[in-house]
Amino acid sequence: MTLADALTRLDYRPAGFLAGHVWLAGAGPGDPGCLTLDVLSALTQADCVVYDALVSDRILAAAGHAELHFAGKRGGKPSTEQEDITRRLIDFARAGRRVLRLKGGDPYVFGRGGEEALALVRAGIPFRVLPGLTSAFAGLAATRIPTTMRGINKAIILATGHAAGTDEDLDWAALAKTGQPIVIYMGLKNLPLIAAALQSGGLPADTPAAVVQQATTPDERVLTATLATLAEEAEKAGIGAPALIVVGHIVSMRAALAGLP
Ligand code: SAH
Repeated sequence: MTLADALTRLDYRPAGFLAGHVWLAGAGPGDPGCLTLDVLSALTQADCVVYDALVSDRILAAAGHAELHFAGKRGGKPSTEQEDITRRLIDFARAGRRVLRLKGGDPYVFGRGGEEALALVRAGIPFRVLPGLTSAFAGLAATRIPTTMRGINKAIILATGHAAGTDEDLDWAALAKTGQPIVIYMGLKNLPLIAAALQSGGLPADTPAAVVQQATTPDERVLTATLATLAEEAEKAGIGAPALIVVGHIVSMRAALAGLP
């Protein structure tokens, strides 16, 4: 059976993209195989795609006739740039276009999707949210780390490392006290700070830890170490963003799950 046959059997009827609507969508972690059918369908129907830096060219190649507009952060003042992006979404929609706002991973996970949705509500623009596979779950699976494992964890914490060391920082000690594994987005730059905070919060220095760079893409790299050594090892190995940090005993399952390709 071909993929086309399977799609027919699914009886998948994509929603029609109406003019003047915005669809806030997640492209997944990078591999086109992680795209949802709804997002793929949206790419074929959109008039314009406003995409973030995390969305790869391979995925944008599936856009039909759409105009492509880059909306990645360029290191300017984030609040102004965010206002520009929402302004653009609203203007395009008011001009009667089918606007696909495409983000890496899932739009509602550390992606400012909620803020953009709120701006659309305030402007009276009709919109839908199309979920994507968030990089934490895809990244763990891609690198043979189970998100939950009976006997190891009963919860999983998704955190952002973006504000580490600032007044708005998370209470890392409180997270450490749960004893549950933590997956940290946007944490690479602040990894030394975060690792130190988790240890002073009570996590043992030898807690297994990993960093996963560009999960599911051809540039994927994974490095395992301990909480105490991860920052130094990642720096030595030249690991770069986008990367996830995983702290907890689920990381130690990697070795047991190795083997078949
Ligand atoms: N909405 C996105 C997250 C955006 S925040 C999602 O659901 O995945 C950006 C952070 O996501 C990056 O700093 C990195 O921590 C993580 N990230 C996104 N894609 C990734 C990938 N392919 N591999 C590793 N980390 C990734």
